[in-house]
Amino acid sequence: MLPKPAAAPRRPKMIDTSQPSDVARETLRQLALRRIAPTPDNYRALYHEIAGTVAEDIFPERALKQIAAALPRHNHDALRVAREFETAIAHADWPGLRSLIVDTLSAERGQDLNWGTLLRELIAEWDRRHLGLTQARKREMLDRVLSASGANPERLAERLQGLLRAWSRNAGDEPPGDDSAAAAATGPDAPPSDAASPAPLFAELLAGLLDNLASQAPATEPTLAAEARELAAAIRQQPAALPADILHQRIDALCAALGWAAEDQSAVREALQRVLQLILENISELVVDDRWLHGQIALMGEMFAHPLDVRVLGELESRLRDVIHRQGAIKVELSDAQARLKDMLGRFVDRLGEFSDSTGDYHDKIEKSAARIAAAGDISELTDVIADILRETRTVQASTARSRDELTALRTRVDDANAEISRLQSELEQTSELIRHDPLTGVLNRKGLDEAMARETAFAQRRGTPLCVGLLDIDNFKQINDTHGHQTGDEALRHLTDVVRENLRPQDSVARYGGEEFVILLPDTVLDAAIAALVRLQRALTKRFFLARQQKLLITFSAGVAQLQDGESPPQAIDRADKAMYIAKRSGKNRVLAAR
Ligand code: GH3
Ligand code: MG
Ligand code: MG
Repeated sequence: MLPKPAAAPRRPKMIDTSQPSDVARETLRQLALRRIAPTPDNYRALYHEIAGTVAEDIFPERALKQIAAALPRHNHDALRVAREFETAIAHADWPGLRSLIVDTLSAERGQDLNWGTLLRELIAEWDRRHLGLTQARKREMLDRVLSASGANPERLAERLQGLLRAWSRNAGDEPPGDDSAAAAATGPDAPPSDAASPAPLFAELLAGLLDNLASQAPATEPTLAAEARELAAAIRQQPAALPADILHQRIDALCAALGWAAEDQSAVREALQRVLQLILENISELVVDDRWLHGQIALMGEMFAHPLDVRVLGELESRLRDVIHRQGAIKVELSDAQARLKDMLGRFVDRLGEFSDSTGDYHDKIEKSAARIAAAGDISELTDVIADILRETRTVQASTARSRDELTALRTRVDDANAEISRLQSELEQTSELIRHDPLTGVLNRKGLDEAMARETAFAQRRGTPLCVGLLDIDNFKQINDTHGHQTGDEALRHLTDVVRENLRPQDSVARYGGEEFVILLPDTVLDAAIAALVRLQRALTKRFFLARQQKLLITFSAGVAQLQDGESPPQAIDRADKAMYIAKRSGKNRVLAAR
């Protein structure tokens, strides 16, 4: 709005409004005439008044960009919103920006409401009668959903909604309370079910869920765990005394807190991953000269390229531990050897000093003797001088011989120490690759296999999931070596492991068990599926020929597969797989057999 002019304005003279420069000149003239402060806003308003156009608000790009920069990006959704926000700003798209903000806020509100509504609907469905669904069956279904969802609120909400849909499909639309299972569970003397408080069975389930939640709540959220435990105790002790709206409120608050905690945790995890990556990148720059560390760091970098899970983190940790341990041990040995070498060199220099001291003395004495000889008056004087010279010469000779022996011994020890240092240094360079991985093929070695086995067996036992081991042996490998040479044999081994790795899942492990024998670990896999996986490998090998100097060679293998049984140790399972592999060899090779 323009400020009111002090006196009636002079009418603008007639100008050609199609000419922006004329309008601009007239605007300036009018600003002066009407004594209006020449601010950008006043200029703009007057310009449009004169041009007869409508003043549109300027798109506040700078301010919006600042807001965009401050938007949270801690999870996938937040990142998406931030990006759409930036795009809308880049296109000066007011309607887009508006609908983005409205949609985001409505979705947020929807999330807040979700839990309360969901639990209310769940309680209502619980009390309803359902065709073919006894209360016991409903309890069993709910129990399964609760235990399968862990402490993940999104998964829990999703599954509970699925359950709701399943129950409502079977609704018999009869009044609640006459279900025989529910009646049996509450007992004949139980007080009548209060519609405002949870039914006893449901109350117990809810309390169980809350206890479970409390025990799984992150250690950083003690109040959350305490509130869940308190609520569980209250529900257990006096379910009827808890008014439904209070219960809803507390559960809503708990769910919201849980959601925030989960978001916090995921943000922390992402930050941690970024920090670790940063450390890794920096270490690899710091150790440019230290080839020894490069092998391990390259492997760890590869691991970071995949999403981190407990399994990957476990392996990362054990690798780091190994690196630190080996590095520490070898560096101590190396510095000991260097200290010994230094000590010997010190003594070497001392000896040299002593040697030149004694020869220096000798020269002085000889010179003195020469002077005495020159000045000697008779032969008896000369006899004394010669006796002195002979004694001095013998002393110097003895000293020289001793020095020569000592120097030879010292040189031998210096050579030994140098050899020891080079050996240790080359060991230092190789260890990182040799610790758990076979240097020829890059797959796990026996030590790596032992560890992977221990880890996978523990996983399988803890989760009650199946674990299979496959043992494969290349057919007629000796013939490949004999016909094409050992180096081609080596290349064939690398070709096989490449094909194996490309065709297995990321969670599977491959290890070189012996010369041309390999063990494959297949977690979460039953026997039939493991056999199918090895047969798939056989097919993959027939599709990808191995080229030995332009000649196509078909590599085949025979294999035995065993599923780890209850109480069986990993070596026992490998042994069974080995026996099955042997039978496969005897029955014509190029086949995969299940172990007995
Ligand atoms: P089968 O089908 O019965 O398994 O016959 P095979 O020839 O594969 O088995 P055999 O055990 O008789 O021979 C295995 C050969 O593998 C012998 C050994 O020289 C070779 N070998 C073991 N390790 C290596 C290696 O690292 N490189 C190469 N090139 N050959 C290897
Ligand atoms: Mg063999
Ligand atoms: Mg073989």
